[in-house]
Amino acid sequence: MKKRNILLTALVCAALAAAAVPAVPVLRNRASCTESGFAMDTAVTVTLTGADSEAAAKEAMAAVKHLEQTCLSRTVSTSDIARANRNGSARVSADTAKIMEQALALCRQSGGALDIGLGALSDLWAVKQNRTPPAAQDVAALIEAGYEKIQLQGNTLTVEAPAAADLGAVGKGAACDTVKAYLGTKSITRGVVAVGGSVLFYGSGDFTVGISSPERGSAALFATVTTGAGCVSTSGTYERYFDYEGVRYHHILNPETGYPVQNGLTGVTVFSQSGLQSDALATACFVMGMEKGAAFALKMGCEALFTREDGRIFATAGIYDKVTVTDPAYTLEQL
Ligand code: AMP
Ligand code: MG
Repeated sequence: MKKRNILLTALVCAALAAAAVPAVPVLRNRASCTESGFAMDTAVTVTLTGADSEAAAKEAMAAVKHLEQTCLSRTVSTSDIARANRNGSARVSADTAKIMEQALALCRQSGGALDIGLGALSDLWAVKQNRTPPAAQDVAALIEAGYEKIQLQGNTLTVEAPAAADLGAVGKGAACDTVKAYLGTKSITRGVVAVGGSVLFYGSGDFTVGISSPERGSAALFATVTTGAGCVSTSGTYERYFDYEGVRYHHILNPETGYPVQNGLTGVTVFSQSGLQSDALATACFVMGMEKGAAFALKMGCEALFTREDGRIFATAGIYDKVTVTDPAYTLEQL
């Protein structure tokens, strides 16, 4: 099978989610509402059902942008993370401290497959702008710069250069957690919140997650997964990359080599009750590869779906029965 440029994305089937909602006239406080925007360098879509859903959707979107701007962004110079990276140390908000604490714990638990200290290495690769790999000695010079150089004591965050804190692997999931906490204070009965590849499914009943190929458009699903409330995150080789001399250089880095992971996987999707955990594990399991990644996901109480460049899809036992392959070019196997 030709090497596929597979988009494995937690595509929200908004139509399916909406299909469960009875049609209602468009009123000021209408029962169902969608708000779309851009934050965390990705598309954000908030679809809510319930009283005052329009106002709640706007506020949920604002909460995601606030988290990005004040806490997690590496590029907004006044954010907690940007200040800590620039000054070596910074007092950070309680929200940032909580996310850092969770993220650093997951770095340790994953044995360093998740490494939130790779900011300088990500900048060196700059896969969105670059068209050729960096020099090997420049990669080697940053190989020791990892999460071990980041300390959190109370609300003081310390980052020892050349390590640089980069919450790119957990921020979108953390945003799902922020929105989930906010929705808990509202009369929202059902919601789907997509922050790039991390999606929150909120409320009762089943939801459908689609897995699609960009070659044929996001509507061309090759599999769907039925899930209850929770969070689903996807990491893949298709999101940010450049191709050079027949090799795909994408944005998920192997912290041991400093190079983009090349292990035959094109995507990993993780299901968890926690957005941050699903996001962190999607990245970590991708780095670990299928066998170790699946074991780690299960150990952490999560389910996972692995897609390989040969078109084979592997699901952990807890979700295997909930996956429907819709494209005969793909095969599903249980791990
Ligand atoms: P995700 O899309 O959640 O897998 O996150 C990928 C992003 O996290 C990249 O764009 C980098 O900013 C950063 N990153 C790359 N490799 C790693 C890694 N091994 N651990 C943690 N963050 C990483
Ligand atoms: Mg991630």
